[in-house]
Amino acid sequence: MSVTHDPYEEAKKQLRQTIDLLGLGDEVYEALAYPERLIRVRLLVKMDDGTTKTFIGWRSEHNSALGPYKGGVRYHPQTNEHEVIALSMWMTWKNALAGLPYGGGKGGIRVDPKKLSPGELERLSRAYFAAIADVVGVDQDIPAPDVYTNPQTMAWYFDEYSRIKRGQYFGVVTGKPLELGGLQTRVISTGYGTAVAAREAAKKVFGGVEGRTVAVQGFGNAGYYAAKFLSEMGAIVVAVSDSKGGIYNSKGLNIEEVKKVKDETGSVINYSNIERKITNEELLELDVDILVPAAIENVITEENADRIKAKVIAEAANGPTTPEAEKVLTSKGIVVVPDILANAGGVIVSHIEWVNNRMGGWIREEEAKARLEEKMVNNFHAVWDYWQKKLDTSKYNMRAAAYAIAVERVYRAMKLRGWI
Ligand code: NAD
Repeated sequence: MSVTHDPYEEAKKQLRQTIDLLGLGDEVYEALAYPERLIRVRLLVKMDDGTTKTFIGWRSEHNSALGPYKGGVRYHPQTNEHEVIALSMWMTWKNALAGLPYGGGKGGIRVDPKKLSPGELERLSRAYFAAIADVVGVDQDIPAPDVYTNPQTMAWYFDEYSRIKRGQYFGVVTGKPLELGGLQTRVISTGYGTAVAAREAAKKVFGGVEGRTVAVQGFGNAGYYAAKFLSEMGAIVVAVSDSKGGIYNSKGLNIEEVKKVKDETGSVINYSNIERKITNEELLELDVDILVPAAIENVITEENADRIKAKVIAEAANGPTTPEAEKVLTSKGIVVVPDILANAGGVIVSHIEWVNNRMGGWIREEEAKARLEEKMVNNFHAVWDYWQKKLDTSKYNMRAAAYAIAVERVYRAMKLRGWI
């Protein structure tokens, strides 16, 4: 991310475009351009050497028209207020598009978690949750993991909140360990959801996903499961990569073997049953049917968009395609399944976890997975149909349709509640 890149400005620009597309006025734009509440907290943490260190954290609660705020907390050295606000706005659209009874929220702490000991990390996490304990809650605001936070972080949050409020509030966070009310399905949810979205897009574009070639950039949680399930669905995953580089085999890669090598050696590039090694840049430009960016933002830009050969791009990562690049992709007829649709599997299963916690635990993992699949399929087709029927597809990609559906839902809820 460059220094001048301000995600909040970008998020507002997207909102403006959608408001204009829907013919809603400035009144609606103003009501949605700012978070309902933004909390900044100063955290004092006792370090292992006996000194005290100060950290800054935020929680942005963007919109609650459709329900309690929902969204993750990230720990990152570059996290800042504007990033957290933008991410909370994107969560509002993602949750609305998924048809979940949630608004949008996001949190962050400016910290390099790799520099903290487990004890320091626990004290920081507990301090953060204690500082925001009055605004989060099972029916108010429900955090979850994001960059560099995980089920252990959620366990600390849940415990701290339950201690302060003197109860057992399992539903105050999602993405918890299985022992504390989490679901195994949450682990596969984002990648599985992306695979389902890519499969549905492939049915539209190629008549099916079987035999179609796939390249996946990023082999972490989202990328590995997207590759695994796409290959189980009959696609041929010919290329995968991680931060150290990529690998290619035109006959298809054995995803489980690649995963084993990645776990054992730290990178996919040490897998030997390949035709050649490739760079991350080459991976994006391969002559494949489906491209799944599942690593970082801004990888498909106006510089390389013209060289992208895939006919379908399913965005597992958040924000992998720049707006300028999307114009080029749209003019080439490339279908982009946007991030707020393609990677919503995580929050969809978070919702199932939350419902399960509130009901005292009843759901079976197979049922959670089936519900995730059903929701991804329905959501994909709702966006596809809107795009095909209501928009000029030579000018707009699926993203415009996804945003239009989401913003309209939030607008209608605000109107019904008498806010505007
Ligand atoms: P992760 O940390 O598990 O994996 C990230 C992968 O990307 C790793 O394999 C890493 O080596 C690779 N990578 C990092 N920098 C790279 C680079 N410059 N080029 C190529 N590969 C690179 O993270 P994740 O949870 O899989 O998240 C990946 C993306 O998916 C992010 O954009 C995240 O916001 C998005 N996402 C994840 C979830 C989820 O539930 N995990 C949900 C929604 C969105």
